[in-house]
Amino acid sequence: MYDAIIVGAGPAGTCAALYGHRLGLKTLLLDKSQFPRDKTCGDAFSGKSVKIMDDLGLIEGVNELDGSIIKRIIFANPRHSECELLLDKSLNKEHISHGYVIQRMVFDNFMFEQAKNVSDYEEGFTVSDLIFKDKAVIGVKGKSLDGIEKEYIGSLVFGADGPNSIVSKKTGLYEMDMKHTAVGIRCYYDNVKNLTDQIELHYVEETNPGYFWIFPAGKNRANVGVGLLKSIVKQENRRLNDIMINVINSDNFRHRFRDAVALEKPTGWNLPFGSIRRENHGDGFLLLGDAAGLVDPFTGEGIGNAMESGRIAARIASKAKEKHNFKKEYLRYYDEELWKYLGGELSVSTRLLKLARSKFLLNFVIDRAARNEKVRNIMSSMLADEIPKTELSNPLFYLKILFS
Ligand SMILES: Cc1cc2nc3c(=O)[nH]c(=O)nc-3n(C[C@H](O)[C@H](O)[C@H](O)COP(=O)(O)OP(=O)(O)OC[C@H]3O[C@@H](n4cnc5c(N)ncnc54)[C@H](O)[C@@H]3O)c2cc1C
Repeated sequence: MYDAIIVGAGPAGTCAALYGHRLGLKTLLLDKSQFPRDKTCGDAFSGKSVKIMDDLGLIEGVNELDGSIIKRIIFANPRHSECELLLDKSLNKEHISHGYVIQRMVFDNFMFEQAKNVSDYEEGFTVSDLIFKDKAVIGVKGKSLDGIEKEYIGSLVFGADGPNSIVSKKTGLYEMDMKHTAVGIRCYYDNVKNLTDQIELHYVEETNPGYFWIFPAGKNRANVGVGLLKSIVKQENRRLNDIMINVINSDNFRHRFRDAVALEKPTGWNLPFGSIRRENHGDGFLLLGDAAGLVDPFTGEGIGNAMESGRIAARIASKAKEKHNFKKEYLRYYDEELWKYLGGELSVSTRLLKLARSKFLLNFVIDRAARNEKVRNIMSSMLADEIPKTELSNPLFYLKILFS
């Protein structure tokens, strides 16, 4: 009997296990993959993820992983003019001054190794169904690597199993909405020119309202990709592979890819955006990370929010254990806390995504930021996760940014 059975050992699941241990919870971490495993991603970790790594005492270990330390972020508009944000120029002097690009094959394995020290676990275990009692979730069923069917029972089940979450489907909360889901492809390249300590987000015409990215992934390697709303891909019958090749061969990027070697065929995966507020709890269960649809709609970042959801889920599970109450009416505190913490910035990013549909506005905002240091410093602080959430939901804050 576990306090929490965590389905999925990505950033959401491993953080839930690590924070759960801190709070004295007995957890079981299940994943259908065997680690190390790949996960299609841009592999970029910004302020929020770094803060959690720090809080969990993992920064030293993370510093030893292969990858790149990131000091700058470039936003480029459809006219190709660029705004450079220096991560060590945010408003708060005590801030997180760097980010990382670390291949998920490496980072997720590191996190899984940490979680294995404090949680029971089973790799290669595919959850196929939930166990219900009086309509409440009380456990999971699935198949282990050797084909044996097993059941596990727990007070709570955490669905940290990504965008196609079985926990979300079996509890009737799954609804793939193309207007709130993006699709992205990633390809690793060696020998892309001019890789430094910066990640680059190019809001080029071909990917509008999404972006083309080039992230340095360590040892002369780049993580390159494009992401676009699913509804637009479908409506306009566009193929992401073609878009990416067109951008790479365009005048602005051709020289940087002249000697570049693609190391794989591009791989694709969904990004469930937090541009709508979903219900992520019910009798006996919580949904975390991508299963809860928490990806930032403007930047495409989901790792930090997934880690945060793990932290909050562990806290609520510990309180539910104290109160002996695993019912929906108590677990609603999870959704409340999640939204209190993430809702402000997700709403801002939803507005920015709408703004990005207008090339005129995108050009205006990025040009404005490029010319004004104060604006850039405010944006750096936002990315370093330092602007109070209440500020982020205040429209005056944005007027201040744009016209300061
Ligand atoms: C192309 C692309 C680029 C991206 N770039 C970035 C970026 O640069 N930075 C960023 O912050 N975010 C990025 N994201 C988003 C980020 O990858 C996700 O938000 C993040 O991985 C979510 O973490 P998670 O733990 O919720 O889910 P995941 O990382 O998807 O982990 C889910 C785990 O659940 C397991 N699982 C699934 N089903 C079952 C089952 N039935 N039984 C058992 N286990 C199961 C899987 O094997 C997996 O290990 C990107 C996403 C895409 C698609």
